[in-house]
Amino acid sequence: MHPIPLHHVWKYTDVDHAFWEEHLEGWLPRRIFDAHTHIDEPRFRVETLTEEKRRQYWVNEVSEPIGAETAARCAKTVFPGREFSCLAFGHPTLDYDIEASNASLAGACVDRGWYRLAVVRPQWSVERVTAELERPRTLGVKVYYALISNDPISRDKHLEASIFDFLPHHQLELLDARSAWVTLHVPKADRLGHPDNIKEIQEIRRRYPNVLLVVAHLGRCYTMAHAEEALPALVDDPGIYFDNSAVLNPEVHRYAFSVLGPRRILYGTDNPIFYMRGRRQWHGRSYVNRTSYPFHFNRDREAPEIEAGYTLFMYEALRAIKQAMVQEGLGHDEVEAVFHGNAERLIEHVNQP
Ligand SMILES: [Zn+2]
Repeated sequence: MHPIPLHHVWKYTDVDHAFWEEHLEGWLPRRIFDAHTHIDEPRFRVETLTEEKRRQYWVNEVSEPIGAETAARCAKTVFPGREFSCLAFGHPTLDYDIEASNASLAGACVDRGWYRLAVVRPQWSVERVTAELERPRTLGVKVYYALISNDPISRDKHLEASIFDFLPHHQLELLDARSAWVTLHVPKADRLGHPDNIKEIQEIRRRYPNVLLVVAHLGRCYTMAHAEEALPALVDDPGIYFDNSAVLNPEVHRYAFSVLGPRRILYGTDNPIFYMRGRRQWHGRSYVNRTSYPFHFNRDREAPEIEAGYTLFMYEALRAIKQAMVQEGLGHDEVEAVFHGNAERLIEHVNQP
């Protein structure tokens, strides 16, 4: 097979096709719903990334905007023969014209039968957020600490913020009144397990019970240490949901399925960045991304014969989810729930224009 261009520097190759056939074709359901994917037309990136910021964090370096048409083509390539839909949102950064990107994505969702979350800044008034929520195919909002204020040097200026600094109470009141969806990427270097995060999530649930709260990336628990200190604190509230995007660690997936059960977890890719090729390794509370492209962060390369076997990060994530579900004894019904049924059920409960 001639390599098929995906996005940015990534291609779909024979290695990926063989991986799909061996691990995924017989296991994934016919319908796939990706509950966490970023789509922005490249023209809406209005600030050029500084060299300093590009090197500050690996995601900055690989995160090139993907338009709706390319995103649809890529999804068709990586999920051959599958019916695909998604919950999409723009890159939550002030490097983009957020409002233009929001409007454009709402239109793309109408055309393609997708759903979207509006990217909103904490400074936005109730009126401004309402106008966003009233666009078609809109389920709620995507908030993020980098939207508090711009920083040309680092994505993490506001990493230690309180959740309420970027998801303020006036917006939560509105979201609660409208039973809207919130995908929440938690702040803090300590990730979900930081006591303030747990306390604030519990406060959101107590004061705004109609908000459909989805904690992104299993609370950014990419290692077992982080998962074990965070997930048990939220197990008792069945109204807190999680997407498992960007998690490649099979042990973490297995742990999440065992403590949260398969009905509170939504499949997500975090594409386009997980079209990256390679694999991830874990050491205690940290991880390292191995990839075959000479990115700045990719200093410690593996041997060429190992790199030649790399597949897409998103395929590694899928294999990890499969391994975890098989080990947990989760069968056909649960697989369907994670890959589309849970999201479809929740969408029915969300107020939509
Ligand atoms: Zn994301």
